[in-house]
Amino acid sequence: MNGSAPAASIDALANGFAADLFTTDPEWMESYARDRTGSYYGLPFAVARPRTVDEVAAVVRRCMDLNLGIVPQGGLTGLVGAAVSDANEPEVVLLLDRMNAVRSVDPAGYVMVVDAGCILEVAKQAAEAENCLLPITFGSQGSARIGGNVSTNAGGFNVLRYGMTRDLVLGLEVVLPDGRIWNGLRTLRKDNRGYDLKQLFIGAEGTLGIVTAAALKLFPKPTQVETAWLGLRSIDDVMAFYAKARRSCSDLLSAFELILRDGLVLGLASRADLTDPLSEPCPVYVLMELSAGGTVDLRQVLEACLEDVGELIVDGTIAASKAQAERLWLYREAMVEAQSRTGAYYRTDVSVPLPSIPAFLEAALAALAKSLPEGRPIAYGHVGDGNIHFNVVPPPDWSKDQRYILFQKAETLIFETVDRFSGSLSAEHGVGRSKKGAFLKRVDPVTLDLFRTLKSALDPQNRLSRGRIFDL
Ligand SMILES: Cc1cc2nc3c(=O)[nH]c(=O)nc-3n(C[C@H](O)[C@H](O)[C@H](O)COP(=O)(O)OP(=O)(O)OC[C@H]3O[C@@H](n4cnc5c(N)ncnc54)[C@H](O)[C@@H]3O)c2cc1C
Repeated sequence: MNGSAPAASIDALANGFAADLFTTDPEWMESYARDRTGSYYGLPFAVARPRTVDEVAAVVRRCMDLNLGIVPQGGLTGLVGAAVSDANEPEVVLLLDRMNAVRSVDPAGYVMVVDAGCILEVAKQAAEAENCLLPITFGSQGSARIGGNVSTNAGGFNVLRYGMTRDLVLGLEVVLPDGRIWNGLRTLRKDNRGYDLKQLFIGAEGTLGIVTAAALKLFPKPTQVETAWLGLRSIDDVMAFYAKARRSCSDLLSAFELILRDGLVLGLASRADLTDPLSEPCPVYVLMELSAGGTVDLRQVLEACLEDVGELIVDGTIAASKAQAERLWLYREAMVEAQSRTGAYYRTDVSVPLPSIPAFLEAALAALAKSLPEGRPIAYGHVGDGNIHFNVVPPPDWSKDQRYILFQKAETLIFETVDRFSGSLSAEHGVGRSKKGAFLKRVDPVTLDLFRTLKSALDPQNRLSRGRIFDL
């Protein structure tokens, strides 16, 4: 399989399976050949769409027998090129869209069990129908699937309060690279019988097994939500505001998003239906959300918090209705969409220790201004998680080649700045293929050795999502 098309035939692959399980039609497979970044393209050898965990296991065993690589695919919203087939060594894409059931929702035990192919939004709606909250929340939740969320350890807006996907998984069902089914689909909250094996597969980017189902923690669905858009003078003021808000609102704080003026301006320019949310422009904004159930007076908590930090806030608005709250979130969404409309841009999801956010942003912006003045930095992030999306948008008329060079330079500048603050080059999206080089440059040898030991133990033939994160 080194650098050449697989020797196996589709007949050998499909023999004995249901006629509609495999597809090799290149036109149809095009939809599964490119991810959201647009940077990775690979037409698979075949696409398999199993309906049951036993079928997944049988497909995996067949691929192993035929020396075919496999890559599991969810909603294809991942941003690191991990879920599309390798163009040089076409793999079998294992698409879990037919395994999309919500198996159960238990509102008394606050747990749901979902097939890996279930779309996140659908799982969230099923939880809501039982007055519960599945708190994984982000822009692509209408397309991303639970298996992808687990395998990327997805974050999002509400990590501050509820944690990453890793914190929400109680159990998993996984097909191993040798075709065995590991049934770890437990719903227990406390279970200390030896190694916590599910953690191996969470955030593994499909390299250690195929997740086929997950048991997820739920929470009481909030009955009140308060949303505010606030303008401040500086990132230092944002951090001072966050420190006070975290104390005064405690766990009622469910989102605290930072947006720089330039990001808002980009979003406003891309949509005629949006106008500046505040009467005077501010250098930085916070989109803040509190949520609660029960008898707490949430508006009063928010107003008391804002009064307490009064001198830090230049201007602001509190949503008076659900529609107004959705409109405030639209400003953030518009900024993200506007970047995509400019063509390919350089995106990151770095993290630094919380107190380092202002110094990191100052240093990264200064480095860009000095060495890459053509690039337009767009920085925003989940403040409470120390997670900054520090992106760089090239001039709109730049060619693909010019953009590529800019991306290389931006990566060096940004990741070197992250290193200075002992941060991470991936807080959310993972390593995949796009950050593999940068990751390998930095990872310590013992960590890499442990990664390789685990991979060799579970997938000695190196057929599953080969070449993602690291090489064996
Ligand atoms: C507009 C937008 C906003 C986003 N916002 C956020 C955000 O706020 N926070 C965040 O964390 N991410 C965010 N993302 C990234 C992305 O949505 C998440 O990484 C998501 O969890 C990926 O899910 P998916 O089903 O699309 O997975 P895919 O893209 O299909 O796959 C992602 C990885 O998981 C593996 N995989 C998929 N399914 C399985 C399975 N069943 N078993 C084993 N491995 C599997 C794939 O092989 C690949 O390595 C965003 C993306 C977009 C486009």
